[in-house]
Amino acid sequence: MTDSYDQLPEKPRPQPSTENQPYWDGLREHRLLVQRCANCNKLRHYPRPMCDACYAMDYTWQEIDGRGTVHSWATSHHPFHHSFKREVPYVTVTADLESGVRLQAPLVGSDETALALGLRVIVDYADVDASLSLPCLRLES
Ligand SMILES: [Zn+2]
Repeated sequence: MTDSYDQLPEKPRPQPSTENQPYWDGLREHRLLVQRCANCNKLRHYPRPMCDACYAMDYTWQEIDGRGTVHSWATSHHPFHHSFKREVPYVTVTADLESGVRLQAPLVGSDETALALGLRVIVDYADVDASLSLPCLRLES
């Protein structure tokens, strides 16, 4: 069976809304912005309209530190979308950030053999192109 990587479809891109645009703008500037509930002050990530603690709709944006620890990880051996066929196997880490939010992102700079629960990680930024940067996680050295 032949399968040319040259014919892979484009990777799907995030479709920012006016509500979550500040998050994507922050990533472009290599800053991690999360929402803070204006009613109960709880930080939340991913961006969403309503606080899951008090159901308030008002929030502000706050930059947080990207340091945390490994909560869990998964290795994908099959691409969930054909355009990711070149990347498999790839590792997605779920990190508990020191700010209290949980973030899931691809692991860069190491493979899964280096991972352990509780290891220190830090958010890094992958510049896809001039208009899109994505968060990723690397082991803190
Ligand atoms: Zn709240």
